Amino acid sequence: METVLSGIRSTGNLHLGNYMGAVRNFVRLQDDYRCFFFIADYHSLTTHPTPEDLHGNVRKVLAEYLASGIDPEKSVLYVQSEVPEVIELYLLLNMNAYLGELERTVTFKEKVRKNPNNVNAGLLTYPVLMAADILVHRANKVPVGKDQEQHLELARIFARRFNHMYGEKVFPEPEAFNFGRELVKVPGLDGTGKMGKSEGNGLFLVDDPKVIRKKVMSAVTDAGPTEPNQTPSEPVQNLFTIMDLVSDPGTVQFFRDQYSTCSIRYGDMKKQLAEDIVQFLAPIRERYDEIYNDDAYLHRVTKEGREKARESAAATMREVRRLFGFKPF
Ligand code: AMP
Repeated sequence: METVLSGIRSTGNLHLGNYMGAVRNFVRLQDDYRCFFFIADYHSLTTHPTPEDLHGNVRKVLAEYLASGIDPEKSVLYVQSEVPEVIELYLLLNMNAYLGELERTVTFKEKVRKNPNNVNAGLLTYPVLMAADILVHRANKVPVGKDQEQHLELARIFARRFNHMYGEKVFPEPEAFNFGRELVKVPGLDGTGKMGKSEGNGLFLVDDPKVIRKKVMSAVTDAGPTEPNQTPSEPVQNLFTIMDLVSDPGTVQFFRDQYSTCSIRYGDMKKQLAEDIVQFLAPIRERYDEIYNDDAYLHRVTKEGREKARESAAATMREVRRLFGFKPF
């Protein structure tokens, strides 16, 4: 049976991009694959959270996963820092990961540009840790958004390199996965670019409906179409992209037609979009509080997840250690 793995950094609440790129695709695979889902708290360290924030964010994200439909009876749900085998594989993979290829990744270059005072080694080797997360369970499919495409390519390169160097096919080459085939990029509401935690433009899964309405109503648009069948500007196209994800096709077509005939009123479109987002997220928001406050449940889920994840990871590491030549005396 093929293995599916996905994870999300615990740097804050989950947003619609995380849900559409990773969580939703994962939830739909749970019945038919061997599934692992984890909270990437080590990955969150690149931004230097306080100890209180570190733990608090893991709890929030854990409750959001469960509220989104990740079922711990079907999937192994665990916290990255509770599975030390990941770090051992990260160290070993680092020995065959080269400065040039790590420096060339788009996400690294972007981080350097945005935050030149915090170019730490953890940022540089972020894709190696991500590869370790995936390879430690020998995952085949990895539900991710478009922003992770290049990291997945590196994970394949590291897997291939390892298999070649040690002469055994220990690791499958993991594929980025999305149900619609094309990986998705959910845009932000600020006109350009993707929705992201560090971009400050997120629609969060557990946002209050009032907050969602306010955010959507203040989304960037333009002065309106001036001639029939014009191609929408990026900010307007972004609203249509989000609408495609949460509204029914008839609604999207209605506003597309209005756009094509220059009769669209962005205020009406935003009102509709806000209501559709509120509806779309309602089932998640309804379950969240109860799960978040259930200490015993969260304890049980993470304990069982940790045990199963460590069992799977330890089996891989036995092979890897043998191939490296580690032996007891
Ligand atoms: P991160 O929040 O960077 O830890 O990302 C966790 C997962 O969410 C990864 O699979 C990302 O590809 C996905 N993701 C993050 N932002 C977006 C977005 N705007 N659109 C689609 N997927 C996203």
